[in-house]
Amino acid sequence: MKRSKMYIDGEMRDSNTGSTFEVYNPADGAVVSEVSKAGVKDVRSAVDAASAAFGTWSAIPASRRCSLLRKWHRKIMANRDQLAETMTLEQGKPIAEAKGEISYAASFVRWFSEEGVRAYGETIPAPTTKSRFVTIRQPVGVAALITPWNFPAAMITRKVAPALAAGCTVVIKPSEETPLSALALAELAGEAGIPPGVINVVTPKDPKVFSKVIFDDERVRKVSFTGSIPVGKKLMEMASGQLKKLSLELGGNAPFIVFEDADIDRAVKGLMTAKFRNGGQACIAANRIYLHRDIKFPFVEKLLGEVEKLKCGNGMEPGTNIGPLINHSAVDKVNGLLWDAEDKGAEILAGGSILNKRWVQPTVMDNCSEEMEVFSEEIFGPVAAIYDFSDEGELIKSANRSPAGLAAYFYTRDVNRCWRIAEKLETGMVGINSGFISDASAPFGGVKESGTGREGSSYGLDEYQEIKYMSWGLD
Ligand code: NAD
Repeated sequence: MKRSKMYIDGEMRDSNTGSTFEVYNPADGAVVSEVSKAGVKDVRSAVDAASAAFGTWSAIPASRRCSLLRKWHRKIMANRDQLAETMTLEQGKPIAEAKGEISYAASFVRWFSEEGVRAYGETIPAPTTKSRFVTIRQPVGVAALITPWNFPAAMITRKVAPALAAGCTVVIKPSEETPLSALALAELAGEAGIPPGVINVVTPKDPKVFSKVIFDDERVRKVSFTGSIPVGKKLMEMASGQLKKLSLELGGNAPFIVFEDADIDRAVKGLMTAKFRNGGQACIAANRIYLHRDIKFPFVEKLLGEVEKLKCGNGMEPGTNIGPLINHSAVDKVNGLLWDAEDKGAEILAGGSILNKRWVQPTVMDNCSEEMEVFSEEIFGPVAAIYDFSDEGELIKSANRSPAGLAAYFYTRDVNRCWRIAEKLETGMVGINSGFISDASAPFGGVKESGTGREGSSYGLDEYQEIKYMSWGLD
C-alpha cells in the first residue's frame, strides 16, 4: 500500500506530527493510501515556503510563469491515465469520467497560461492637464486554497492556475477524502520546473488545523474556498479578522426547467448530464426538475428509458456509469431524503434502493413538492426529483425560492422566453438548451448564498490580483 507525503517547498515531506490517516476506496472500503497528517507546524512551514518564494515568482515576467504553466499542462496530459486511476481509487467516479476530469483540470492550466500574459492595466483620462491616471495589476500575495472531494483535480487547477499566472504562490488544502490527486498534481508541477515553494500541499485530517494557521497569518492575503455553504459562512467570519480577500464557490440547488415547446430529446440528454454526471455529486447538478404539464408524460417516459441503461459499479470497471457515493454518511443522507419525500407523497418511478451501503440506484421520483427536503437540500446523489408546473410566473417564484443561486437550466424554442427567463433566474450561471456549462473560458460562480467571486475566464485571474491606481502630478 502506498504512503503519501505532503508537498512542501519542492519536496515530498513527512509530517512533523509523525502521524498518518487513511484514505479509502469508496467502492470497497479498502485503504488506498496512508497520508501524512499535517499539524500546525507543517501548515506554517508551507506558508513560510510560499512566502519565501513569492518575491521571486511574482517578479519574473508573466511570459516565463506562463511557459512553466504550459509545461505543467503537458505533464498532466502525459500522465492522464495514471492521474485518472488515482482519482477513481480515492473518489469512486467511473474511470472515463475521471479521464474527462483530468483533461478539464489541465484545460485551466493551459487557458490561464494564455490569459496570464494579458493582465493589462489601464490609462484613464484625467480631469486636468496636470495629471495622468494609470492602473497596474499586482498579485495579491500568498493564497490559501481549500477544495472539496467531488472534483479532486479540477477544483485544484481552477484555483492554482490563475493564482500562479497572476504571480501568487499557494498553499493548498485538499479534502481529507481525496488528497492523492492534489499531491500527484503538485509533484508534476515540480517536474515541470515550477520552482520550490510556489505550490505547496498540506494534508491535515482536521481542516481546522489549516484554517487556524492561515487566518491568523498576515502573510496569507487571499483565501479561495470551494465547498459547502455552512463551511463557507464560517470561513467568511474568520476572514473578517484580517479582512482577507476571499472567494467562495459554494453549494447550489439548480432548477432544471423544461417548457412545453422544448426539444424533448435534447432536454432529456441535457438532464442525463446535468443530473447523473459524477453520480449527481456536483454543485451544479440539476436538483429540482420542473416539467411543464403538457410534456411531462413523454419526457418522463424517455427519461426512464435512459435511466434504465445506467449501470452502478466500481469505477474501475468498464461500462460503469454510476460510481459509489463518497462515504456512508453521504449514502445515509440521500437515503433520508428519499424516505422524507416518499413519506410526503413522492412516487418512485425508478430506482430508490441503496446497494451494498455504497451506491444509490439511479432514481426518478415524481410528484415532488416544496415541503419535501429534496426541494431545499442539495441532493448530491443520482436522484431526479420531478415537479410540474403550468404557469410561468409561479414557476419562476418557485425556482428562485432557495437561498442558493449557483446554476439553472431551461429548455424552450422561444427566443423571447429565453431572454425573459434567463434574466429572471437568480443564479450566477444559466444553461439555455444546454445541460453542460463548465469551461475554462467561462466565469463559474454563484449569487446569493452560493458564494462570491468567479473562477475560470479572465474574471478568474482578477481574483488573484489587486488593482493599483497611480495618480501622476505633472508640471
Ligand atoms: P465541505 O464544505 O465539507 O468541505 C470542503 C473543504 O473544506 C474540504 O477540504 C474540507 O476539509 C474543508 N473544510 C471543512 N471545514 C473547514 C474548516 N472549518 N476550515 C477549513 N477548511 C474546512 O464540502 P465537501 O463535502 O467537501 O464538498 C461538497 C460541497 O462543495 C457541496 O456543497 C458542493 O456544492 C460544493 N461545491 C461547490 C462548487 C462550486 O464551484 N460552487 C464546486 C464543487 C463543490
